[in-house]
Amino acid sequence: MPRKLAAGNWKMNGMAASLAEIDALVKAHPSPACEVLICPPATLIAQMAWKVGKNPIALGGQDCHSEASGAHTGDISAPMLADAGASYVIVGHSERRADHRETDVDVAAKARAAHAAGLTAVICVGETEAQRDAGETLAIIGAQLAGSLPESATPANSVVAYEPVWAIGTGRTPTLEQIGEVHGFLRAELAKRFEGTAADMRLLYGGSVKPSNAAEIFAVADVDGALVGGASLKADDFGPIVAAL
Ligand code: 13P
Repeated sequence: MPRKLAAGNWKMNGMAASLAEIDALVKAHPSPACEVLICPPATLIAQMAWKVGKNPIALGGQDCHSEASGAHTGDISAPMLADAGASYVIVGHSERRADHRETDVDVAAKARAAHAAGLTAVICVGETEAQRDAGETLAIIGAQLAGSLPESATPANSVVAYEPVWAIGTGRTPTLEQIGEVHGFLRAELAKRFEGTAADMRLLYGGSVKPSNAAEIFAVADVDGALVGGASLKADDFGPIVAAL
């Protein structure tokens, strides 16, 4: 089994002063049992890489362009993220899918670019509340998974994050049974594609993970870690989540 992964997505939060959280996290958890990943805004990646130094914290971007370079004002490419010190990139977050109308085809192209740059892609899927209420959860997730994982994806260079849209930033989480149902479904879908190695692909749960619910969520079968938003911003919150894995 691969190492569990505690991933923090800082979203559009964080200034240079926030780098102090890295010091606090390292001090509290100098050698965590799980892999720790922080995805700060792109403006902080290079400084954060310097701050992390040899400590066991990986860094990632929150999005990348599907091309390596060119006339795309405001965009950032996967090789640029790698150059700044990132080893991961989140693609297909529901906020990107909503705010920037990213489709599964776009997400697959970004993941392909990430792989070409040597980055591990954290590929996000998740249903809206209306889709869950309509009983469409597994159909939606299955379609997103099939459409968003490029042919370059392997269990080693990709992580799938299940983030129900209605659980993000709301304080609401699915029941443990609901999380287990989706993660079991994802594993079974991956097994069709990766056969004997599907268990090596890490499946993260994301959406209102906090210190008080992390341990019970991590105990659910096929949950290999978490993608944490709000509770990743402060070492005092993220530290206990790291320790729970
Ligand atoms: P919250 O942990 O703030 O709910 O955000 C989850 C998320 O979207 C992580 O990518």
